[in-house]
Amino acid sequence: MKKRLKTTIAYIWKEIGRLKKLESQKHVVPILYYHSVSSEPTHGQHRVTDTNFEDQVRFLTSNYTVMPFSQFIENLRNQGKMTKCAVVTFDDGYRDNYQYAYPILKKYSCPAAIFIATGFIEKTVTLIEDEEILEPMTWKEINEMNMNGLISFGAHGHTHRILSQISRYEVEEEIKTSKNMIEENLGKSINIFAYPNGQPSDFNQEIINVLKNNGFIAACSTVWGSTHSYENAFAIRRIMVERSDSIDIFKLKLMGAYDFLCYVSWIKFVLHRMMKVKGNIIHRIKT
Ligand SMILES: [Zn+2]
Repeated sequence: MKKRLKTTIAYIWKEIGRLKKLESQKHVVPILYYHSVSSEPTHGQHRVTDTNFEDQVRFLTSNYTVMPFSQFIENLRNQGKMTKCAVVTFDDGYRDNYQYAYPILKKYSCPAAIFIATGFIEKTVTLIEDEEILEPMTWKEINEMNMNGLISFGAHGHTHRILSQISRYEVEEEIKTSKNMIEENLGKSINIFAYPNGQPSDFNQEIINVLKNNGFIAACSTVWGSTHSYENAFAIRRIMVERSDSIDIFKLKLMGAYDFLCYVSWIKFVLHRMMKVKGNIIHRIKT
């Protein structure tokens, strides 16, 4: 067997062993993540239709206890039981979250957390993958949702740059600026984060330490999975909901049937690292 292949298998084996260890302390809670919810026609997988979103929220709230993200972290810390619980999150802070998702969330009393890339607010955002121009939310809209109490907010960096690809100084700036801007506008402390892009190659221990030093208690990745442990609070796994998901696919995702994709993420990470190439890009954004 070629040495390189042997080393690859050894790396993969190590990661699988690490993940198996995590499974043994598991809390099974699907943490869904969305980007855009809209009635507008599109081919982009990141934009879920408002009718599908309503079907999903209706199913979720009648079959699961949907808890705020902060309560999920609290339960994780206290080893509290979380049977048939779920969490809803959104990344980036698109205006359609306010226009289309928020009325549905209110209708079904479904809590959700929105992770905001603060540099986008009041600007225009282009989602590169789909070549679609999306508007971000305004501070007025964010404040209105905050006052309602159903929606909580977290930081997602300031410019959405991938934190593992910039200097330590820039990482500090991205994290501090996004946290401070949300805190100044909402008048409350912000302690949850979602990594831009969020794949295994997009964050590391040094970045986690910066988050911890700045008062954060948890951070979400985009690594697939519904099993969690408090030790992993700064690499929370999530489940992406896509435009093409039927309600049956949605139910399968909630049941953890796609959790094998977690292994795919890590295998890709190890292979990319060995081949010294950049990791998976979930979506690109420019302002
Ligand atoms: Zn994002």
